[in-house]
Amino acid sequence: MTARYNPRLDMTLQYRLFDEFPAPPAAPYAPAASAPTPLAASRSAGPTTQVCVLGSGSGGNCTVVRFGKRAILIDAGFGPMTTARRLQQTGLTLGDVKAVCITHLDQDHFRPTWINTLIGFGIRVYLHRWHRRHLDKVEGSEHLYDAGLVRFFEYDAFEPWEADAHDPHDERHDRVVISTVRLPHDDKGTIAFHLQAGPLRIGLATDLGHAPDELIRAFAGVDVLLIESNYDPQMQITSSRPAFLKKRIMGGHGHLSNEQCLDVCRRIADASPQGNPQRIVLLHRSQQCNTPELVKEMFARDPRMAKRIVLTQQRRRTPWIPVKPLAAGLREQLTLAAPISSPHA
Ligand SMILES: [Zn+2]
Repeated sequence: MTARYNPRLDMTLQYRLFDEFPAPPAAPYAPAASAPTPLAASRSAGPTTQVCVLGSGSGGNCTVVRFGKRAILIDAGFGPMTTARRLQQTGLTLGDVKAVCITHLDQDHFRPTWINTLIGFGIRVYLHRWHRRHLDKVEGSEHLYDAGLVRFFEYDAFEPWEADAHDPHDERHDRVVISTVRLPHDDKGTIAFHLQAGPLRIGLATDLGHAPDELIRAFAGVDVLLIESNYDPQMQITSSRPAFLKKRIMGGHGHLSNEQCLDVCRRIADASPQGNPQRIVLLHRSQQCNTPELVKEMFARDPRMAKRIVLTQQRRRTPWIPVKPLAAGLREQLTLAAPISSPHA
């Protein structure tokens, strides 16, 4: 039976969400009235920028990136109720989410149960043109098209919202520019996202069979890197999984092992000014074929990397991870070293 879009159902869901998760305590992200931000600081850093992984693994993936009062989700791999509950713990609500960027349409990255909620809240969905035929197969996706909420990207960078013109002194006030890299993953492929707000840069890549040089170039200089560290090869090989699945995961079009992840982190760090990425958030750890201890053991091989890592979990969110600019001298070096405005294939 095909579920038809029902606006009344949407309203019910909204009320249920708000009933169950009342508004968070006031103003976790409101600037203190008594301490206005100096204009110079606002010019360099813009509004508060933070990242929180609401959960990551084969059971669901969702990362929230907050720019002041507005937020972007990267992937929506938990249902809207779970997402709203974890978001509420961060001080945000679904009403603060303005866009969802989808890496790919596997169930652990996009749940079709989101469709009515996206429409109810007017949240735009960004995905690669390459994934269009997969979205078309998702039940109810026609209602997303009807609501004008689907945005396809291909080569060009995009902005998830119009920049706020309220601060005429600072044109970068809340401007966010997102560029992408196509990556190998199964037959559908996946998308890495690079988000830039003023001098701040964030890169997220998950479900990639390997990291092409284009990804290293695009992510060189990011302040916060989020990347998968999926499996331990020994555990994978000796697991009870069928041979075809092991081959899929380890064959260069599946996932990154702990060692491959460390290698990618090093390549990105080597291409960045010293000190970046300041935080390395490790995503999508396999429950069956990996452990936190093995990940830490692998990263302990490189003390430079080990002290920067943040492990994520399937069922619990991370704390807010601040995204901060490097010191001024290093930032200059960054600008010279790694321009990111050019589109890519
Ligand atoms: Zn996945």
